[in-house]
Amino acid sequence: MTTLTQSVRTPLVMSLHDGDRTMVDLLGGKGANLAEMTRLGLPVPHGFVITTEACRTYLVDGKEPAELQVLVLERLHELVIEAGRGFGDVADPLLVSVRSGARFSMPGMMETILNVGLTDATLPGLADRGGERFAWDCYRRLTQMYGRTVLGVGADFFEDALARAREARGVADDSGLDADTLRELTAEFRRICVEQGGEDLPQDPHEQLVRSIRSVFESWNGDRARLYRLHEGISDDLGTAVNIIEMVFGNTGPDSGSGVCFTRNPATGAPGAYGDYLPNAQGEDVVNGSRVTLSLDDLDRLQPAVHAELLRHLETLERHYTDVCDVEFTVEDAHLWILQTRVGKRSPAAAFRIAVDLADAGTIDMDEALVRVDGGQLQSLLHPQFAPGGTSDVVATGLAASPGAAVGELVFSSGAAVIVAAQGRKVVLARPETSPDDLAGMLVAEAVITSRGGLTSHAAVVARGLGRACVTGLRDLEIDVREHRIVLQDGAILAEGDVVSVDGSTGEVCRGRRDVRPSPVAAALQATTVLEAPATEDPTAAAVVRLLVHADLRRHLGVRANAETLADAKAAKGFGAQGIGLARTEHMLLGDRRVLVEKVVTDSGRTEALAKIEELTRHDFLEILEEMDGLPVVVRLLDPPLHEFLPDLVDLSTRVAVIEERGQHDAGLEHLLAVVRRWHEVNPMLGLRGVRLLAVVPELLDAQVRALGDAYAELLVRGRNPQLEIMIPLVSDEKELKQARARIESALAEVSARRGLDLTVPIGVMIELPRAALTSGDLARSAEFFSFGTNDLTQTTWGISRDDAETSFLGLYRQQGLLSFDPFDTLDERGVGRLMHISCEEGRAARPALGLGLCGEHGGDPASVRFCADLGLDYVSCSPPRVPVARLEAGRAAVLSERVDAGSDTR
Ligand code: PEP
Ligand code: MG
Repeated sequence: MTTLTQSVRTPLVMSLHDGDRTMVDLLGGKGANLAEMTRLGLPVPHGFVITTEACRTYLVDGKEPAELQVLVLERLHELVIEAGRGFGDVADPLLVSVRSGARFSMPGMMETILNVGLTDATLPGLADRGGERFAWDCYRRLTQMYGRTVLGVGADFFEDALARAREARGVADDSGLDADTLRELTAEFRRICVEQGGEDLPQDPHEQLVRSIRSVFESWNGDRARLYRLHEGISDDLGTAVNIIEMVFGNTGPDSGSGVCFTRNPATGAPGAYGDYLPNAQGEDVVNGSRVTLSLDDLDRLQPAVHAELLRHLETLERHYTDVCDVEFTVEDAHLWILQTRVGKRSPAAAFRIAVDLADAGTIDMDEALVRVDGGQLQSLLHPQFAPGGTSDVVATGLAASPGAAVGELVFSSGAAVIVAAQGRKVVLARPETSPDDLAGMLVAEAVITSRGGLTSHAAVVARGLGRACVTGLRDLEIDVREHRIVLQDGAILAEGDVVSVDGSTGEVCRGRRDVRPSPVAAALQATTVLEAPATEDPTAAAVVRLLVHADLRRHLGVRANAETLADAKAAKGFGAQGIGLARTEHMLLGDRRVLVEKVVTDSGRTEALAKIEELTRHDFLEILEEMDGLPVVVRLLDPPLHEFLPDLVDLSTRVAVIEERGQHDAGLEHLLAVVRRWHEVNPMLGLRGVRLLAVVPELLDAQVRALGDAYAELLVRGRNPQLEIMIPLVSDEKELKQARARIESALAEVSARRGLDLTVPIGVMIELPRAALTSGDLARSAEFFSFGTNDLTQTTWGISRDDAETSFLGLYRQQGLLSFDPFDTLDERGVGRLMHISCEEGRAARPALGLGLCGEHGGDPASVRFCADLGLDYVSCSPPRVPVARLEAGRAAVLSERVDAGSDTR
């Protein structure tokens, strides 16, 4: 509930002259930037902003704050004076746009109503300004938007009427409709409003305004806005501002038009202004893709003075915002108006290139460049891409709107995309153009393709934000959503379910499945031995390498890799890992080696099996330690959930029963069954694993440690510098640890004696159970280092099975808003993080030199890396391909935490 004091202090309405860009919380992004541009002296139409405070009050109380209407009238009066036109004036009417604008950009997710103030009475006055056709065009747009937004009439009613009118007049797009047709359409739209919405368009301009404002408030809680916020992690409590801005018109004739542009290419990051322009059109026509747009070069040809002025303003904005700006503009009778700007959304590839280019130009420094990219973006650049050339069957080429290589089955509606993706199949969503109603489908699709629209269309902007591949403007093909098919230029058909490959980097759409190759960024990282000299021609890859070099300079957090094969160890080093933080030895004993563990546990041929395990382990680690010479290699002793190594109880019981039914016996099988039954666990993940298994079958520990000691000794003899560390898994109590440690030391002593060498190997413990975290002071007395196994620690802290997490109720929990993230992907700082905090404090209190690392999956998750850096861990360890992500995030964490310390963190 808003208190009186709050409403006195926080303005409900503000003029654009009184705000600036820092006021995004109150004015929303759009309003704050309009105010900033007004301050900069750019040609911005006059207007004012109803603040988010008013919206929040509306949402809580279900009605506007009492004083809002008076405040709006006061501002409107000022606007009338500034604009020199009257609201409702029949001779020269002022029309306004009523636009949503939240703190965070939510493109197309909320409502906008244009031309508010137009009535039967004011229409002739508007016609005097821009002609009959123009005036009726404005009127039918207002009726359509008002009907849809305020009266809740389905968009199709209006679209179908428009399509019928276009067909009857034989024109391809709405710009071909004449004044008479638009007048008839307006009348038809008003009938639709009455029939479907129960009311006509109000003929009182003030009523239009009040109800438009209210419906923008309400659109904050519309389905698509809520879904978008859920996906983007935007709080539901922020509310939207409402911008009331004087209308300027791009549809008054050939010297008018509307455009959307970026100060640099948002898909590739290439320098130079980039955008779409449509003569004789309002802004929505550019964005919704309903007409074929022109380029800025075309604008230069048509109206060179306007083009030159636009470029000047773009330069001013990029310099002022020190970043790429996305700008909407309108030209009314050769007069340029800037309607909106914001820092532009960009693809991950563009983000890296732009950040480095701006740093090279001296606009920002390398620290700032580093915090302008993130690990999530880098992750998407490390994905494979299509191999060039090959036998690809390119059926059409459009605009490369959002990069990425995607293969999937064609679907033609958002609903179909959701259904097919829910069956675990990959889909490519094809639409003539997308609208905010397609968001659910875009979220699950691998790629989005549209036949209309440019680089600034809804499809392009949303896909880039979501990191989906997207190709727009595929003009050579017809996407027929009614028949669920694509008709190609030569008449051939692609049907629903057909597999296509979409290359968002080149704009190509191919029939069938294309081959993929490693990403150029991944290849450049692997090829770059001396990081200072990026060995790549690809501008994005070069930018990534440079930012990683900078991140390495800045970070305090080490980055190691989880690896247990020679190939992974090599890849890890290529990606810049500073060692191996976790070698899971049970992974080395799976496949055809699985039976060896089975033999040990079931005590059938145990001695030979142990000898074999020892020999294989020695051989494997000789290679790995040699590859990682001079770098730490943390080897974790066996931690198999036993059921992964023993035969399945039901299968085995059936086999024995079948043999018995035949009146026969198989003593070996019966023994095996007895042992499997003996060790069978309902909940093996909480059973005889890790240190527990090593306590019950200590010969396994002996064999592993002797093998490691031998490999280590062998390399020492060869004059190498192995850095072996041994780690004990799933410890919950100090006694378990002490017993295992004693046994490790005695096995190492045996090798030392045999080899005549002093083998000193740090011994550490995994913190994977809440009890271990809470007794860390005890554990640190018997361990040189801790490594947080946050996969198990999350499982045991939450009491949720990690093996069922993907299919379990977690998805439903997220839908219901009970969880905003998956704790198995992103570290739960509040719960698991608190245990880690306690563990670090108590561990270091007991042993100040205690090493601290993390080796759960969270080690490669961008948000979790920052948490680990802030916690003061020595390193994180993650799968090799995520090493660059962790390096980048660790560098960002260092810069950001310095800024917090200096009190200047603005992010
Ligand atoms: C962990 O539990 O976080 C861990 C690294 O061990 P594993 O995933 O092998 O159980
Ligand atoms: Mg574990």
